[in-house]
Amino acid sequence: MSEKTYQRLVAELTNIEQEGLYKLERLITSPQSGQITVDFSGENKSIINLCANNYLGLADHPAIIQAASQAMQDYGYGMASVRFICGTTDLHLKLERAIADFTQHDDAILFAACFDANGGVFEPLLSAEDAIVSDSLNHASIIDGVRLCKAKRYRFANNDMVDLEEKLQQAAAENPRTIIIATDGVFSMDGYIANIPELRRLADKYDALLMVDDCHSTGILGPEGRGTAAHYGLQVDILTGTLGKSLGGAAGGFVAASQPVIDMLRQRSRPYLFSNSLPPAIVGGALKAIELCRKGDKRRQQLKDNAKYFRAGMEAAGFNLLPGEHPIIPIMLGDAQLAQNLANRMYDRGVYVTGFFFPVVPKGQARIRTQMSAALTTADLDTAIAAFEQAGSELGII
Ligand SMILES: *Cc1c(COP(=O)(O)O)cnc(C)c1O
Repeated sequence: MSEKTYQRLVAELTNIEQEGLYKLERLITSPQSGQITVDFSGENKSIINLCANNYLGLADHPAIIQAASQAMQDYGYGMASVRFICGTTDLHLKLERAIADFTQHDDAILFAACFDANGGVFEPLLSAEDAIVSDSLNHASIIDGVRLCKAKRYRFANNDMVDLEEKLQQAAAENPRTIIIATDGVFSMDGYIANIPELRRLADKYDALLMVDDCHSTGILGPEGRGTAAHYGLQVDILTGTLGKSLGGAAGGFVAASQPVIDMLRQRSRPYLFSNSLPPAIVGGALKAIELCRKGDKRRQQLKDNAKYFRAGMEAAGFNLLPGEHPIIPIMLGDAQLAQNLANRMYDRGVYVTGFFFPVVPKGQARIRTQMSAALTTADLDTAIAAFEQAGSELGII
């Protein structure tokens, strides 16, 4: 390749490394769970996992593995087609129906990932005569989806309903055909829950649609884990979600909404039209995962208890946590290198956590984002808190 370009990339990578922003990937040699096995300098070592999106602990559930295996036996390994050519099985329709029933929308449509769902949800519904009012801390995939669409863009400060109304007034002054308010249901870096009651009220006041990304809410919040809106006893207009977190943690995304919205996405959404159909094993596994999620109150209680227990222990140890009740529990450190150092020391002590820093969070707000799982035991949490106390005092954090 071009020597000039090669050298430029090498220099940029060195720069990333020197700023302490280089991301390394650890090797896991077991299924995802509360405790996992990792390749630790060539040896297998058991380690407590505090950084998976495995909220309900379903990632290695035998009934899901069984359902996925059965679907693969019945329908084969892959569909070798997009949905509209020859990639739709009765199982795909069954999953879309199950998601629609679960989220209480008319219909649902599957994508290869929620990244694609968010990337493909705006452009088919809106054009230059429309407007999107988007929360400033929305997930990267929503930001990309908004960029791919010609609608006029407005950004409001995170979860700031006064700023949202100002932006809605600005948008309405241009007389758009349609306004969509877009927000994460739970903000993934902070674990904060969006103010759905106020979002709903403002959406109705300005005749806007409310779009909520429930990736970190599905399975956790609301009756049966139906999500952020259900948590408040409300409904949103467009819900996007993932099969890659609470619902078994494999892959796949979806949009659930009223019939014309879903019908339009099936006709026009580019990641749906030009990307392969979900493999049968995932579809079969996801159907079982939704069933287990809906009747998973015990798992949700365990998850809640774990979050409360871990928060209390970490606060008592003197760490600076963001407040909240969600199983996302961020430990604020500020400096990227410090977050990396703490994560490394925790890893050496048998606790897997990951430092988050720029560009994933703003500069100067580096943190370790821990995530609770129903698969974690009290003993796991005690071990983790003790390790945090030791590593934290070694580094002068507490
Ligand atoms: C994880 C996540 C996504 C992406 O979901 P995938 O199915 O993994 O592509 C989108 N939005 C939010 C808020 C997320 O946390």
